[in-house]
Amino acid sequence: MQRNKKILLLSHCLLNVNSKVNKIANYGGCLEELMVPLIQKGYGFIQLPCPELLSCGIKRWGQVKEQLDTPYFRKHCEKLLEPIIQQLIDYSNSGYKISACIGVDNSPSCGVNTTCKSSKWEGEIDSSFSLEETLNSLNIVNEKGVFMEVFKSLLDKNAINLDFYAINESNPNTSVKNILKEL
Ligand code: SF4
Repeated sequence: MQRNKKILLLSHCLLNVNSKVNKIANYGGCLEELMVPLIQKGYGFIQLPCPELLSCGIKRWGQVKEQLDTPYFRKHCEKLLEPIIQQLIDYSNSGYKISACIGVDNSPSCGVNTTCKSSKWEGEIDSSFSLEETLNSLNIVNEKGVFMEVFKSLLDKNAINLDFYAINESNPNTSVKNILKEL
Protein backbone atom coordinates (compact mmCIF):
# COMPACT_ATOMS: atom_id res chain seq x y z
CA MET A 1 0.00 0.00 0.00
CA GLN A 2 1.44 3.34 -1.08
CA ARG A 3 1.46 6.20 1.39
CA ASN A 4 3.95 8.93 2.24
CA LYS A 5 3.21 9.00 5.99
CA LYS A 6 3.74 12.78 6.08
CA ILE A 7 1.03 14.99 7.45
CA LEU A 8 0.47 18.72 7.78
CA LEU A 9 -1.92 20.50 10.14
CA LEU A 10 -3.73 23.48 8.69
CA SER A 11 -5.89 26.22 10.15
CA HIS A 12 -9.45 25.51 9.10
CA CYS A 13 -9.95 28.51 6.81
CA LEU A 14 -6.94 27.70 4.61
CA LEU A 15 -9.11 24.86 3.32
CA ASN A 16 -12.45 26.56 3.79
CA VAL A 17 -12.47 30.34 3.58
CA ASN A 18 -16.22 30.34 4.28
CA SER A 19 -15.44 30.00 7.97
CA LYS A 20 -13.87 33.47 8.15
CA VAL A 21 -15.55 36.61 9.46
CA ASN A 22 -17.68 37.98 6.64
CA LYS A 23 -15.85 40.37 4.25
CA ILE A 24 -12.28 39.34 5.08
CA ALA A 25 -11.95 36.39 2.70
CA ASN A 26 -9.48 36.97 -0.11
CA TYR A 27 -9.82 33.66 -1.99
CA GLY A 28 -12.87 31.72 -3.15
CA GLY A 29 -12.71 28.38 -1.34
CA CYS A 30 -9.30 27.14 -0.31
CA LEU A 31 -5.90 28.82 -0.68
CA GLU A 32 -5.02 27.19 -3.98
CA GLU A 33 -1.51 28.70 -4.27
CA LEU A 34 -0.59 26.92 -1.06
CA MET A 35 -2.63 23.75 -1.35
CA VAL A 36 -1.90 22.63 -4.92
CA PRO A 37 1.91 22.53 -4.42
CA LEU A 38 1.48 20.83 -1.03
CA ILE A 39 -0.78 18.17 -2.59
CA GLN A 40 1.84 17.68 -5.32
CA LYS A 41 4.52 17.29 -2.65
CA GLY A 42 2.55 14.34 -1.30
CA TYR A 43 1.31 15.64 2.05
CA GLY A 44 -1.83 14.48 3.77
CA PHE A 45 -3.73 17.10 5.78
CA ILE A 46 -5.45 17.47 9.10
CA GLN A 47 -7.80 20.45 9.08
CA LEU A 48 -7.88 22.06 12.53
CA PRO A 49 -11.32 23.16 13.73
CA CYS A 50 -12.18 26.87 13.49
CA PRO A 51 -12.54 27.91 17.15
CA GLU A 52 -14.38 31.13 16.36
CA LEU A 53 -16.95 29.58 14.02
CA LEU A 54 -17.59 26.87 16.61
CA SER A 55 -18.26 29.39 19.36
CA CYS A 56 -19.87 32.44 17.72
CA GLY A 57 -20.98 31.15 14.33
CA ILE A 58 -20.72 32.51 10.82
CA LYS A 59 -22.42 35.84 11.63
CA ARG A 60 -19.85 36.84 14.26
CA TRP A 61 -18.11 40.23 14.26
CA GLY A 62 -14.35 40.46 13.88
CA GLN A 63 -12.72 40.30 17.30
CA VAL A 64 -9.35 41.02 18.89
CA LYS A 65 -7.22 38.81 21.11
CA GLU A 66 -8.29 40.46 24.37
CA GLN A 67 -11.93 39.49 23.70
CA LEU A 68 -11.03 35.84 23.19
CA ASP A 69 -8.45 35.63 25.95
CA THR A 70 -10.85 34.29 28.58
CA PRO A 71 -10.87 31.07 30.60
CA TYR A 72 -14.02 29.98 28.72
CA PHE A 73 -12.59 30.43 25.23
CA ARG A 74 -9.33 28.75 26.27
CA LYS A 75 -11.28 25.76 27.61
CA HIS A 76 -13.28 25.68 24.35
CA CYS A 77 -9.98 25.57 22.38
CA GLU A 78 -8.63 22.80 24.63
CA LYS A 79 -11.74 20.68 24.02
CA LEU A 80 -11.48 21.16 20.25
CA LEU A 81 -7.79 20.32 20.27
CA GLU A 82 -7.95 17.23 22.47
CA PRO A 83 -8.86 14.84 19.60
CA ILE A 84 -6.18 16.47 17.43
CA ILE A 85 -3.53 15.81 20.08
CA GLN A 86 -4.74 12.20 20.34
CA GLN A 87 -4.38 11.78 16.57
CA LEU A 88 -0.87 13.26 16.64
CA ILE A 89 0.18 10.82 19.38
CA ASP A 90 -1.31 7.87 17.50
CA TYR A 91 0.29 8.84 14.17
CA SER A 92 3.70 9.55 15.79
CA ASN A 93 3.67 6.24 17.67
CA SER A 94 3.02 4.46 14.38
CA GLY A 95 5.89 6.00 12.40
CA TYR A 96 4.07 8.85 10.66
CA LYS A 97 5.74 12.24 10.38
CA ILE A 98 3.74 15.29 11.45
CA SER A 99 5.67 17.83 9.42
CA ALA A 100 4.30 21.18 10.62
CA CYS A 101 1.30 23.32 11.46
CA ILE A 102 0.30 26.24 9.22
CA GLY A 103 -1.72 28.99 10.90
CA VAL A 104 -2.96 32.44 9.92
CA ASP A 105 -1.02 35.49 11.08
CA ASN A 106 -2.89 38.48 12.53
CA SER A 107 -5.81 36.28 13.58
CA PRO A 108 -6.75 36.65 17.28
CA SER A 109 -7.14 32.85 17.35
CA CYS A 110 -4.82 31.29 14.76
CA GLY A 111 -1.97 33.81 14.60
CA VAL A 112 1.42 32.12 14.86
CA ASN A 113 3.86 35.07 14.74
CA THR A 114 1.42 37.95 15.00
CA THR A 115 -2.07 38.64 16.32
CA CYS A 116 -4.37 41.65 16.61
CA LYS A 117 -5.02 43.46 19.87
CA SER A 118 -6.94 46.51 21.04
CA SER A 119 -7.85 47.84 24.49
CA LYS A 120 -10.94 49.59 23.08
CA TRP A 121 -12.63 46.73 21.17
CA GLU A 122 -15.67 46.13 23.36
CA GLY A 123 -19.11 47.33 24.33
CA GLU A 124 -22.27 48.57 22.70
CA ILE A 125 -22.30 50.34 19.33
CA ASP A 126 -24.43 53.35 20.31
CA SER A 127 -24.34 57.12 19.66
CA SER A 128 -21.20 57.52 21.82
CA PHE A 129 -19.31 54.89 19.83
CA SER A 130 -16.42 56.15 17.69
CA LEU A 131 -15.63 53.80 14.83
CA GLU A 132 -12.51 55.78 13.94
CA GLU A 133 -11.13 55.65 17.48
CA THR A 134 -11.86 51.93 17.71
CA LEU A 135 -10.20 51.14 14.38
CA ASN A 136 -7.19 53.31 15.24
CA SER A 137 -6.70 51.38 18.46
CA LEU A 138 -5.99 48.14 16.58
CA ASN A 139 -2.42 46.88 16.93
CA ILE A 140 -0.66 43.95 15.31
CA VAL A 141 1.68 42.49 17.91
CA ASN A 142 4.25 39.69 17.89
CA GLU A 143 2.27 37.07 19.82
CA LYS A 144 0.35 33.93 19.00
CA GLY A 145 -3.45 33.99 18.87
CA VAL A 146 -5.33 32.28 21.70
CA PHE A 147 -6.04 28.99 19.84
CA MET A 148 -2.39 28.62 18.82
CA GLU A 149 -1.22 29.43 22.37
CA VAL A 150 -3.46 26.68 23.73
CA PHE A 151 -2.29 24.29 20.98
CA LYS A 152 1.40 24.97 21.69
CA SER A 153 0.87 24.41 25.40
CA LEU A 154 -0.91 21.06 24.78
CA LEU A 155 1.88 20.01 22.40
CA ASP A 156 4.49 20.85 25.04
CA LYS A 157 2.57 18.93 27.72
CA ASN A 158 2.59 15.89 25.46
CA ALA A 159 6.25 16.34 24.40
CA ILE A 160 5.29 16.77 20.72
CA ASN A 161 7.62 18.95 18.65
CA LEU A 162 6.08 20.72 15.71
CA ASP A 163 7.29 23.49 13.41
CA PHE A 164 4.84 26.36 13.02
CA TYR A 165 4.37 28.45 9.87
CA ALA A 166 1.74 31.05 8.99
CA ILE A 167 0.02 32.61 6.04
CA ASN A 168 0.14 36.36 6.39
CA GLU A 169 -3.11 37.46 4.84
CA SER A 170 -1.90 40.99 4.20
CA ASN A 171 0.83 39.46 2.00
CA PRO A 172 -0.19 35.85 1.23
CA ASN A 173 2.07 35.36 -1.82
CA THR A 174 5.28 36.01 0.10
CA SER A 175 4.28 33.80 3.01
CA VAL A 176 3.16 31.00 0.65
CA LYS A 177 6.53 31.14 -1.16
CA ASN A 178 8.45 31.04 2.12
CA ILE A 179 6.44 28.10 3.44
CA LEU A 180 6.84 26.12 0.21
CA LYS A 181 10.63 26.63 0.40
CA GLU A 182 10.64 24.97 3.84
CA LEU A 183 8.24 22.07 3.26
S1 SF4 B 1 -7.96 32.14 11.31
FE1 SF4 B 1 -8.65 30.52 12.68
S2 SF4 B 1 -10.37 31.39 13.79
FE2 SF4 B 1 -10.02 32.67 12.00
S3 SF4 B 1 -11.38 31.83 10.44
FE3 SF4 B 1 -9.38 30.86 10.19
S4 SF4 B 1 -9.56 28.98 11.36
FE4 SF4 B 1 -11.21 30.31 12.04
